[in-house]
Amino acid sequence: MESKVKKIGVLTSGGDAPGMNAAIRAVVRAARSKGIEVVGVHRGYAGLIKGDIVDMDVRDVSNILQSGGTSLLSARSKEFCTEEGMQMAIDNCHKFGIEGLVVIGGDGSYRGAGDLSSRGIHCIGLPGTIDNDISSTDYTIGFDTCVNCVVDMVDRIRDTMRSHERCSVVEVMGRNAGYIALHAGIATGAAFVMVPEVDSSVEDVIAKIEEGRALGKYNFIVIVAEGVGHAEELSKKIQDATGVVTRATILGHVQRGGSPTARDRVLASRFGAYAVDLLAAGKSNRVVGVRNDKLVDYDIQEALAMKKEFPMELYNMSDIISI
Ligand code: ATP
Repeated sequence: MESKVKKIGVLTSGGDAPGMNAAIRAVVRAARSKGIEVVGVHRGYAGLIKGDIVDMDVRDVSNILQSGGTSLLSARSKEFCTEEGMQMAIDNCHKFGIEGLVVIGGDGSYRGAGDLSSRGIHCIGLPGTIDNDISSTDYTIGFDTCVNCVVDMVDRIRDTMRSHERCSVVEVMGRNAGYIALHAGIATGAAFVMVPEVDSSVEDVIAKIEEGRALGKYNFIVIVAEGVGHAEELSKKIQDATGVVTRATILGHVQRGGSPTARDRVLASRFGAYAVDLLAAGKSNRVVGVRNDKLVDYDIQEALAMKKEFPMELYNMSDIISI
């Protein structure tokens, strides 16, 4: 079937995530296989406003599959949220002949894609964020790589904590979402996981450590999502209350970089190719996700209104087996 669009653009927006390059590569190659021309937009919506746009062909995305970050660069653009900024972006789409646009980013980027769609640019959003906090998908691009990075770091910390019979409080990313903390907590056997979605106090953490000590446990990992507490403060309180020497580690941006896992590469590749299918079929104002390992797509506004249920059964299971 002939494609409904002749030329599309691809951009990455908001915080970067490992696997974005795999998605870019898939978009470019899937589009070229259908005879669709592709341009890459640098620095997200900021580049669309400035006209920072380059032609992309299959060889232009060689050797990026395995690298973290985004080869198209990412940015946040306040100007894009103004009427003038939006108009400049639309004008550049017309100037460069961009009929469709694949936007890889988070909820904010989806809103921008919704605005562009309502003004005639066919947009498809792909979920790219390490936080996994996008409701319209089970998994986002970058989450798996991030969790694996945290697990690797915590395993190293645990080695030395065990040698010295200490407690370690590890602060991980997730201002509003505890998915990284929860998954890393389960995978590293953390004694306690503090997440924004579940009310818990320092006293709860201390009680869990005391309970563990009574059962012969002498080293402890506590994982805290950045949105609920500060590792330094928590460590001090734990040490004062329990007498267990406690150290704080804030992992920071190390969690956002690195070569994407195979899982993220596969997911991003599937998303990218699917986005091109949607554009070729004349679809617009959609976001792509994965549900029970099947690709799905939703209307952008419908997707933004969705609520993601925090997996309480996983959280409770983690608590039970971490004693
Ligand atoms: P993440 O938060 O995971 O890093 P995100 O896509 O949610 O990713 P934001 O900074 O919220 O990141 O949004 C990225 C860009 O999308 C913004 O800089 C802005 O240009 C555009 N954007 C955000 N919100 C809106 C909105 N309500 N309407 C139009 N455009 C928006």
